[in-house]
Amino acid sequence: MGADDRKRVTILGATGSIGVSTLDVIARHPDRYRIAALTAHGNVDRLEQQCLAFHPEQAVVRQASAAADLQRRLRARGLNTEVLAGPDALTAVAGDAGSDTVVAAIVGAAGLEPTLAAVRSGKRILLANKESLVMAGSLFMQAVREYGATLLPLDSEHNAVFQCLPPAFSPAHPFATGIRRVLLTASGGPFRQTSAEALAAVTPAEACAHPNWSMGRKISVDSATLMNKGLELIEACWLFGLPGEAVDVVVHPQSIIHSLVEYVDGSLLAQLGNPDMRTPIAHALAYPERIDSGVNGLDLVASGALQFERPDTERFPCLALAYQAHAAGGDACISLNAANEVAVDAFLAGGLRFTDIPRLIAEALERLGVESVVDLDDVVSRDRRARLVAQEVAGRW
Ligand code: NAD
Ligand code: MG
Repeated sequence: MGADDRKRVTILGATGSIGVSTLDVIARHPDRYRIAALTAHGNVDRLEQQCLAFHPEQAVVRQASAAADLQRRLRARGLNTEVLAGPDALTAVAGDAGSDTVVAAIVGAAGLEPTLAAVRSGKRILLANKESLVMAGSLFMQAVREYGATLLPLDSEHNAVFQCLPPAFSPAHPFATGIRRVLLTASGGPFRQTSAEALAAVTPAEACAHPNWSMGRKISVDSATLMNKGLELIEACWLFGLPGEAVDVVVHPQSIIHSLVEYVDGSLLAQLGNPDMRTPIAHALAYPERIDSGVNGLDLVASGALQFERPDTERFPCLALAYQAHAAGGDACISLNAANEVAVDAFLAGGLRFTDIPRLIAEALERLGVESVVDLDDVVSRDRRARLVAQEVAGRW
């Protein structure tokens, strides 16, 4: 491949867990990829190191003062990276013609608008930011079709499902190729065996110590409550055009099988591998080719027995709340996601017990009711309103 043929990659949320893993894969293939833009929120020092290593054309940070400072530091090192600041610059860079591939790796609702901007520019989108599909799945998938974008899942479960689907699969006719259902695996998180009583006293540090995966703090708490699997079931419904009844969850503590697809003939196809996000990232970057990800092959004998359990929705009500919100439709998933973000922030700040996370979400959902959603303005305003209601509920406790 000649230098001019290299894919130009923009990473939204470059300094996070997914962003760092993506750069690790890209660094192994300088002949295939170059970096168009890198964005970060607060971690400007890490972004500076990444700019020095990958020479992006553009970089984006949150604050104008930090942008000016970074611009000066990069110039002093001989780099002509243009440094921009704020949400509008982030959205502009996401949709900029300077890239063909955008890795959507911002955490939470903040990822929605930049990710949609990338979709509307018709690029290849590598989606880690599941919250954007949870909030705006219908508008998002409509934009993918309308603007001819290519959407590839980075979430390990969805990437596994994608790898197990037949080439003729289309989300427009999900059952036409003999699929019966999708089975998402869940590790069960750090509290899989913790009693209901003990759950009330767990700390943020314990919740963020995931047994198999190393991830950002928000998704780590989501994994501990099983809300991550709830968000993922909604994500799977949108990505693959499936009804909620065709997406099941099974707890698999080893995180070796990343998900499965069941066919009408009784076949179950699975994707296996060591739990390392560089595998799905490399898959989506190179698709339909395959490239080295830096992940070792799986030693089946060493990994030993694989276990499977039914999820316990009594101790972990968030999964059931997600199924309910998805079935309710309208703006219920926007409310679910917003209340969850408020609850997780409060828990991480020490202001809410772990077991209050599902309680807060349930009460906020009840108070908010369900209304229909027409456009992106609706999504943004319902998100804002749901946050206010969730904060109000938390304030009264
Ligand atoms: P993280 O917290 O490690 O990183 C988040 C990134 O987003 C950082 O670069 C941060 O600077 C940026 N960011 C945060 N708030 C922002 C804001 N308001 N505006 C702009 N940028 C902002 O998170 P992560 O673990 O890398 O997860 C990122 C996304 O990927 C999440 O949606 C998560 O659910 C999803 N995901 C992560 C993993 C994983 O293994 N970490 C696996 C599957 C899916
Ligand atoms: Mg996942």
